[in-house]
Amino acid sequence: MLNIINNTGNPKIDKAISILSKHYLDQAFLQSFKDITFSCHSPYTSIINTMNSNHPAIHVNYFTPHWLFSKAIAKYSNNEILFNRFPIRTSPVCDILETLFHELCHHWGFVHVSNYQTPYNLDTVPYKLSSLFKSYIISSFPLELL
Ligand SMILES: [Zn+2]
Repeated sequence: MLNIINNTGNPKIDKAISILSKHYLDQAFLQSFKDITFSCHSPYTSIINTMNSNHPAIHVNYFTPHWLFSKAIAKYSNNEILFNRFPIRTSPVCDILETLFHELCHHWGFVHVSNYQTPYNLDTVPYKLSSLFKSYIISSFPLELL
């Protein structure tokens, strides 16, 4: 079960949490990455088991970057997802959803090696699953993003 608590008051984050909670265990989504290889060598069954396990509640808050033009969109630590308060103002729900899923993967214990979008990193669970989930929602439930 997912328990994500939005402390930001941002309705786009509410919407992303609601779509995520409703669809992250959809059979169609889970089947969509059955034959995909991840660069961190996470086997499919262990990813599925992790997604189905109980995890502590997550709080969503904002952070203010030290540098105004920081490209950091979000970060995760200690059961907390922090969104950069500046870029999220113009982010569409589908992008917030992807970021939320990416950070959720960190909550589940999946990692990547640096904060650069290298070919290796783009094949890790956080990058790849969040991208697949965004595509799945856009193609299957586009009206929920409005
Ligand atoms: Zn990450």
